[in-house]
Amino acid sequence: MNYSRQREIILETLRQNAVHPTAEELYSILEKEYGATSLATLYRNLNLLAANGIIKKIDGLEQSSHFDHNVHEHYHFICNKCKKVYDVSADVAPELLKKAEMELGADIESCDIIFHGTCKNCK
Ligand SMILES: [Zn+2]
Ligand SMILES: [Zn+2]
Repeated sequence: MNYSRQREIILETLRQNAVHPTAEELYSILEKEYGATSLATLYRNLNLLAANGIIKKIDGLEQSSHFDHNVHEHYHFICNKCKKVYDVSADVAPELLKKAEMELGADIESCDIIFHGTCKNCK
């Protein structure tokens, strides 16, 4: 499978699975729907897409990186039970970055905020 075709499929699959799958989870979806590809190729394509700002790589949740089709400013909530990752709108804390910049006197380029708890479905 060539890069542009695989990239299209990755983006489409990420959009349909908005719970921020890991590379391993994406791999099993892709394998089921489109047949074999290699995990190494998938990793390479995901990292390339993330490096180009087309998707977002979220580190520090668990051992694996999760991938996100939403590159706009937002935060994350991870469920302790089902381990799904949900988006939290940046509107919950308006001006957060601006306030942090003022306190630090720094230029902030990005932030990763992760809430932990039990999701609606698992409660
Ligand atoms: Zn849950
Ligand atoms: Zn997200």
